[in-house]
Amino acid sequence: MNVPLLDLKPQYETLRAEIEPVLLEICASQGFILGPRVKECEEKLAAYCQTARAVGVSSGSDALIISLMAEGIGPGDEVITTPYTFFATVGAIARVGATPVFADIDPATYNIDPALVEARVTPRTKAIIPVHLYGQCADMDAICAIAKRHNLLVIEDACQAIGAEWQGRRAGSMGDYGCFSFFPSKNLGCFGDGGLVTTNDAAKADRLEIFRNHGMAPRYYHHAVGGNFRLDALQAAVVSIKLPHLDSWSAARQANAARYARLFEASGLLASGDIRLPAPPAPGNRHIYNQYIVRARRRDALEAYLHEHGIGCAIYYPVPLHLQECFASLGHKEGDFPESELAAKETLALPIYPELTDEMAAAVVDAIAAFYRA
Ligand SMILES: *Cc1c(COP(=O)(O)O)cnc(C)c1O
Repeated sequence: MNVPLLDLKPQYETLRAEIEPVLLEICASQGFILGPRVKECEEKLAAYCQTARAVGVSSGSDALIISLMAEGIGPGDEVITTPYTFFATVGAIARVGATPVFADIDPATYNIDPALVEARVTPRTKAIIPVHLYGQCADMDAICAIAKRHNLLVIEDACQAIGAEWQGRRAGSMGDYGCFSFFPSKNLGCFGDGGLVTTNDAAKADRLEIFRNHGMAPRYYHHAVGGNFRLDALQAAVVSIKLPHLDSWSAARQANAARYARLFEASGLLASGDIRLPAPPAPGNRHIYNQYIVRARRRDALEAYLHEHGIGCAIYYPVPLHLQECFASLGHKEGDFPESELAAKETLALPIYPELTDEMAAAVVDAIAAFYRA
């Protein structure tokens, strides 16, 4: 049986009748840039994320860049983040000319370890960007406490974590800014690129709205150099239509994670130590499983075997950011962030998308068991 890592088509089929007429309506109107559809989408998402405001932008990467830009963070400034994340987190810091400063991860959650953050604060530090990796929030109580002590901004990279909760609070509502992505493979994906910044501060939201449109207000009067970071009506409409389904999709992902735990337990792969499962989220937290990440013995050989046998899987991320060629000037070497390096060597993402069936999940675990038996 072939099992893809992610298949977006079954979700589209359930929503096709709802989405297609709206897309055609927008085409007929020929009104594509910002406008009422974007405003409606922003209002719905602010409510969902439990924030005062939300500003639609062109991507998750741009959500991070515009948050840094709106705060005037640039050359000479330092921003503390994790070296184990998607490139865009660290790319955004570099793009505005600031210096990324890394703190290693907690190996149980893959999120930045707050115990390692404070030692990285210098007089040049302006912000912390915790990443809620794979759909689980970083320890926001500890991170916000450090930020408060040192008067730093907190920009949440919540691109993989829409609807995730830390002690009952939603991702994107705890820091100064929350950055989200509607890239199709995220839990709430649009039909192209799109993103969002959430904030509880009206002045910050107003500034983001100006920055996403070339720093312009009113038309052709420019306060600052922003950029074209706008969300378009087609993407906003797709997000608005999908949003009411998001919680049921997240629940299906959680059920899939629970099913994997039962199947792996029964397989003997946990007892043998060949596979280690993700730790269950702490009480009061909500994990939305954008990815289901296991640690595997002989990971690279397992990955190759699964691909040969039609089982989708992927390595997120094979090279931590401090060892990437483009950041060589930061002067890091192997061994600087050992937990991130170990995660990069040991982890494998398995299919977790909502429509995954019992048979498919069983096929994934059977194939892994067959690999370790061979
Ligand atoms: C996807 C992602 C981004 C970037 O989002 P895009 O919409 O693809 O630009 C940033 N950070 C993390 C952690 C992501 O997973």
